Amino acid sequence: MATVTGRAIHSGLTSSVTLHRASGPLRFQRGGTEVPADLVHLSGAERATSLSADGASVHMVEHLLAALRVAGYFEGVVIEATCDELPILDGSAAPWSGAIAELGPPPPAPAALVPQREVAVALRGGLARATPGEESLAYSVAFDHPAIGVQAWEGGPGAYGELLNARTFGFERDWEALKARGLALGASEAHVIVFAMDGPTRPLRHPYEPVRHKALDAVGDLALLGRPVRARLTIERGSHALHHELARALAAVAAP
Ligand SMILES: [Zn+2]
Repeated sequence: MATVTGRAIHSGLTSSVTLHRASGPLRFQRGGTEVPADLVHLSGAERATSLSADGASVHMVEHLLAALRVAGYFEGVVIEATCDELPILDGSAAPWSGAIAELGPPPPAPAALVPQREVAVALRGGLARATPGEESLAYSVAFDHPAIGVQAWEGGPGAYGELLNARTFGFERDWEALKARGLALGASEAHVIVFAMDGPTRPLRHPYEPVRHKALDAVGDLALLGRPVRARLTIERGSHALHHELARALAAVAAP
């Protein structure tokens, strides 16, 4: 059992999360309600991935799910959350790793999902494709911002760990609009990278930190499948909604 506490980026509330080993699929616990971490319980994709069940919700689950995936946890953890939004921490998934390590070694990985054919999905200018084969992820972004532009990252599951410390990013031009809508109330530059027109307002951890963060989000969103995926995944200009569509398409063509 291990607890992580921090600020929720949108509500600004203090959010505590305790991880417990327990057999069965990954699931969140909100009060007395369990919210399974699977595609069936997806309830939101705007700026973060949300899950809901029986009137209970958990927002911003993707970074924790990515860190669990990197640690080899496809199942066997109950995630008790005091707030309906997980803490943003430093904007990356790295701060979850210590708590996950306290759980000890993960249970054996379940059998991989084997897609029976290639799938491709498109959404709002983004494209995602999965081709049967050894698991790998190729991610690219193209932002109309001089400090980011076109960036790409590619790697297999053994390289997913290098994505963990890539932080959430946003654009100064969007900041006030989010606050006006009552969002990002807990956000500060300690939690996200802010890109002003002339570049990030704080040093990057990697020149390609933005695409690495998008790839991290994809690893977390695809963890909702609950098992490894025997496919080469290619995502261009992705979003949470596109990652979810790709996961659903993969589930729909999974070999029995
Ligand atoms: Zn993210």
